[in-house]
Amino acid sequence: MERISHFIAGKVVAGESGRHGDVFDPATGAHTHEVDFASAEEVDRAVEAAQSAAGPWGTTSLARRAEVLFRVRQTLDAHRADIARAITLQHGKVLSDAMGEVARGIENVDYACGIPNLLAGRYSERASSGVDVYSVRQPLGVVAGITPFNFPAMVPLWMCASAIACGNAFVLKPSEKDPLASVLLAELLAEAGVPDGIFNVVQGDKVAVDAILAHPDIQAVSFVGSTPIARYIYEESAKRGKRVQSLGGAKNHMVVLPDADIEMAADAAVSAAYGSAGERCMAISVVVPVGRVAEPLVEAIAERLPKLRIGPGLEEESEMGPLVTRQHRDKVASYMDSANEQGAKVVVDGRDHPLYGKDGFFLGASLIDGVTPDMDCYRDEIFGPVLSVVRTDSYDEAMTLVNSSPWGNGAAIFTRDGGAARRFQEEVQAGMVGVNLPIPVPVGYFSFGGWKASLFGDTHIYGPESVNFYTRAKVVTERWPDPATSVIDLGFPQNR
Ligand code: NAD
Repeated sequence: MERISHFIAGKVVAGESGRHGDVFDPATGAHTHEVDFASAEEVDRAVEAAQSAAGPWGTTSLARRAEVLFRVRQTLDAHRADIARAITLQHGKVLSDAMGEVARGIENVDYACGIPNLLAGRYSERASSGVDVYSVRQPLGVVAGITPFNFPAMVPLWMCASAIACGNAFVLKPSEKDPLASVLLAELLAEAGVPDGIFNVVQGDKVAVDAILAHPDIQAVSFVGSTPIARYIYEESAKRGKRVQSLGGAKNHMVVLPDADIEMAADAAVSAAYGSAGERCMAISVVVPVGRVAEPLVEAIAERLPKLRIGPGLEEESEMGPLVTRQHRDKVASYMDSANEQGAKVVVDGRDHPLYGKDGFFLGASLIDGVTPDMDCYRDEIFGPVLSVVRTDSYDEAMTLVNSSPWGNGAAIFTRDGGAARRFQEEVQAGMVGVNLPIPVPVGYFSFGGWKASLFGDTHIYGPESVNFYTRAKVVTERWPDPATSVIDLGFPQNR
């Protein structure tokens, strides 16, 4: 059985805790790897390595740090296919989708290559007579990232590219469900010249997470995962005085107005609901047709589903792969039963797909119509290939529904009416809004983050907000007066 271990101070380090997790190939159901689970002492060792590396790296010139990041960019670029393969082997998403994940991850390195410019402060000459003021941003020291299974390469890169560029040392605790990509990333970063101890990986579960949260030398925690754990990470980090950005789950709505192009809206809904088997925090999980568009839209979506090519992620013709684990697949499938029991209409049941019930963790694309907000399939984040349809009579009813959701990650509107789209983007309570575009993930030079239960903390992740998150501001006020003019003045400093 192949083993996946930690990466500390520039090398792979075998776990010593005696605890491990099982990792599967979701396409076949085969048990392929064991992943070491770190003890609190092993987390301490990673933090110690990070702490010793953080000092010299934080005072390394911006020119040199940028040079290393450009090399990271080149190295990742040269290994796109290897990273994508590692993702597909354990997550299950199809290879083309995994290549997309890698590309979106590399965008964050592109952004971080501009660190000399991003860290440039402000300077105000003669703010007061003979007094100049300037601002600088300094690294925090050791920072940690805790990441979910659904983007095993991209989400770590959302965090570590900026964290490292800003001069910090990074400790990653990846998902225990698909940890292979994390060690590959660590090896590639080391190959690119990231100094030993600047990027460390501790594999594990809650024990490792709790050790990170309790560690006094970890200054900031970035988390991406489900809402209950995001809330926990936020509270535990904040009460210990750490900086924290904690991104949670989602239930993203796509409102379709009566004037929308139905074929385009159906293509978008299918792409956004079933891509990556719905295991995306920006997946569309609820379609909200307004008025007469409902009937033809549901028909157009249903007609597309049997044509989706579902199969192993490594097979080139597959468009949708399996779910990540058997337990998760079974839980997702159970929503068809509760939907039936609660009075919805299961238009397409993914359990009818020929691959369902075979060795791999497959479930066909599922569509549930006639959903109301009190049903389980609406209330829960299913995180699988299940699309719910909540029919509404008016724009106002659709907006009330969307804004009543406890989550606020993404929301989209499909319409040909510019005024309606503008009203939607103003009124909707979500951090990322799509107009005729179902998955509005911001580009790497904007920041990503939701509202409400989709994000705990004040800063969004990656992009400009990450530079603030991973640095501390300092403002220097200075003067170089002629000593002959010096006097004692007990008054509060005022500008003259
Ligand atoms: P998860 O919350 O189960 O796990 C995320 C991380 O937390 C993992 O590293 C895991 O080991 C750790 N963890 C799990 N249980 C824990 C506990 N009790 N105590 C401490 N740590 C714990 O999430 P997941 O299933 O890996 O990922 C899917 C979830 O992530 C979905 O809810 C999805 O919406 C969300 N997600 C959100 C975003 C976003 O940007 N908002 C992006 C991707 C995924």
